[in-house]
Amino acid sequence: MEMENLFAEAQNIIPGGVNSPVRAFRSVGGSPRFIREAAGATVIDAEGRTYIDYVASWGPMILGHSHPEVVAAIREAAGKGTSYGAPTEGEIAMARRIVAAFPAVEMVRMVSSGTEATMTAIRLARGITGREKIIKFTGCYHGHADSLLVKAGSGVATLGIPGSPGVPRRLAELTLSLPYNDADAVRDAVGRFGDDLACIIVEPVAGNMGVVPPQQGFLETLREVTRASGSLLIFDEVITGFRVAYGGWQTLTGIAPDLTCLGKIIGGGLPVGALGGRREVMEHLAPTGPVYQAGTLSGNPLAMAAGIATLDVLKRQSYGQIDRLVQELCTGYGELFTRRGIPHRINRVGSMFTLFFTAGEVTDFVSASRSDTELFARFFQGMLSQGIYLAPAQFEAGFVSFAHTARDIDRTLAACAKALAAL
Ligand SMILES: *Cc1c(COP(=O)(O)O)cnc(C)c1O
Repeated sequence: MEMENLFAEAQNIIPGGVNSPVRAFRSVGGSPRFIREAAGATVIDAEGRTYIDYVASWGPMILGHSHPEVVAAIREAAGKGTSYGAPTEGEIAMARRIVAAFPAVEMVRMVSSGTEATMTAIRLARGITGREKIIKFTGCYHGHADSLLVKAGSGVATLGIPGSPGVPRRLAELTLSLPYNDADAVRDAVGRFGDDLACIIVEPVAGNMGVVPPQQGFLETLREVTRASGSLLIFDEVITGFRVAYGGWQTLTGIAPDLTCLGKIIGGGLPVGALGGRREVMEHLAPTGPVYQAGTLSGNPLAMAAGIATLDVLKRQSYGQIDRLVQELCTGYGELFTRRGIPHRINRVGSMFTLFFTAGEVTDFVSASRSDTELFARFFQGMLSQGIYLAPAQFEAGFVSFAHTARDIDRTLAACAKALAAL
């Protein structure tokens, strides 16, 4: 069926035609591509057109699509039943891998989404400290739980809404959103109400206002002030965990958060999330502790099988190889933009990157917002029409997988040259 017809039909029975707002092409115009299938670095739409994929299902598909070992693991697991509501050995195997990879994690609780992981982390921090206030950073996205939908990134930023109707004002008032990379603002806020502070939650490398790396000393300050005020530091590594390194940002920097949230890659493309931390922190969760959290499908055998297979393949990969490929891509993009005289900033951390259409440095949400989103939309459409599938919004990260090749990068840059010529 034609894309426009599919979209029209979907809009009749699904709000906006999509099951997650970021997919809706609202800020770039046109119909979202309905995807029929995918393999390696390629996705194929319902009309049979192929695209080089830089969305990677918004992060999970670091091995590329339909990786044979992951598919085989899911097939085998599915033949043995899809859910039991009882513990399985797969959950131990998954927890072992996470604990081995993440320096700050001694115990793990599996959930079914990143949203559940961050929501549980906040509840745990409040339960342990007996305090209610939390600090987050403007433009960071931590899923759609009430407390965290305040000045959030990703689709919330794209749609330009500061918060969300339906979040009780009295709950939102407990969330303070500060500028990313502003250590002074954090010190100031903690100085004023540190006694009421349950936790600080942060994307250690921001991905949901586009990619924004932490500046020297920012995360160190968060570690220091949370320790001093008796609050918890939560690293939301739902994107960065197993993306920037096997073991996430904390392995690269040695900064140990009290709680770590994971998702995306650890499910190999199936719905998953996880929360980890030190034993004495994690044992506050039910049934060992009083902080309640549960899930009918938590630790689902298919998700565990897909996740374990993904991590085992990843363990054999060289992150340096993928990083070099992305560097080549970003250097190429930069040269083409410069040649055309288009103001731009390319932020890259490992295999995650964002092209911003602004001349200034992008260090927080305000500077990210200076990007010319109208120009981005035209660039996006130019790339899409040539078979390059970018995230359909400015305030998102692009992802490269281990399935991308030098040839994919060359084709992408050739498409970029043409797209820019047509702007
Ligand atoms: C995607 C994301 C989440 C939410 O995960 P879901 O599985 O979509 O609920 C949380 N935090 C970060 C940093 C994310 O990128």
